[in-house]
Amino acid sequence: MMFVLSSPSGAGKSTIAGKLLESNPELQVSVSYTTRPIRPGEVDGVHYHFTDLETFRAMVANHEFLEWAHVFDHRYGTPKAQVWHALEQGHDILFDIDWQGAQQLHQLAGGDVVRVFILPPSMPILRDRLIGRRTDSIEVINARMDRAANEVSHWDGYDYVLVNDDVETCFDCVKTILAAERLKRSRQTGIIGFIRKLLR
Ligand code: 5GP
Repeated sequence: MMFVLSSPSGAGKSTIAGKLLESNPELQVSVSYTTRPIRPGEVDGVHYHFTDLETFRAMVANHEFLEWAHVFDHRYGTPKAQVWHALEQGHDILFDIDWQGAQQLHQLAGGDVVRVFILPPSMPILRDRLIGRRTDSIEVINARMDRAANEVSHWDGYDYVLVNDDVETCFDCVKTILAAERLKRSRQTGIIGFIRKLLR
């Protein structure tokens, strides 16, 4: 299963994604490529594969991305090879990508993608959270706030929309969605054999 988590930056998506990965060891995260500079505390190959524009363009030309998009003047892309490999091994994959990526994956997978959008409780709270992170300049924060409004306007491109008032409650909802989606008849690959045996 391909499981997409999107939100404006600062709405708590990374915390929730981290908790989801901790509680679901069989879930793998897709590590994107990006041309944006590395931030303090980030690790190359873990948070992103940090790369230059030339390399990124060459990867686009070689069709190495499942999807890619411009976000905040930088480019971000989901590498095909890692995703195929994980899916082949039977892992579910978590994507921390924006609405453009969610849309592209949805088209590519013929709709077989679970898309979850996390909203902040309010725009002033989102701004306070961005300031509290102390990772971006005020200009970058202003740009992120502008972009947040744009991101939120794409809420209707998602299957589930959650408000992150309280991170534990929001995490519980995401966990429940993951569990329910796994139980869908269409995702239970062994179920037909099981039912045949049951009725024998
Ligand atoms: P940040 O620079 O704060 O890590 O991420 C900025 C935005 O880019 C976030 O909304 C994040 O979800 C999105 N993003 C990260 N990787 C990808 C990707 O591979 N594709 C797309 N479309 N968006 C991405």
